Amino acid sequence: MAAVVEAEKCTGCKTCEETCPNGSITVPDKTAVVNQDDCIDCNACVDACPEKCISIP
Ligand code: SF4
Ligand code: SF4
Repeated sequence: MAAVVEAEKCTGCKTCEETCPNGSITVPDKTAVVNQDDCIDCNACVDACPEKCISIP
């Protein structure tokens, strides 16, 4: 699995990008994008997101 972003709730704040220990989530434009092949399901971004819009299914 990999983390999933609810794009409509994401504000593009980059907290997740700064938190990910693996460089697996970035904000290339206005919405966070997870590298599905790279995410190690560590949950750091899920806990850090102020909008609570990241989950691991
Ligand atoms: S921390 Fe949450 S709101 Fe901020 S860019 Fe990441 S997914 Fe979007
Ligand atoms: S679950 Fe962990 S490895 Fe995956 S994107 Fe979030 S912080 Fe990065």
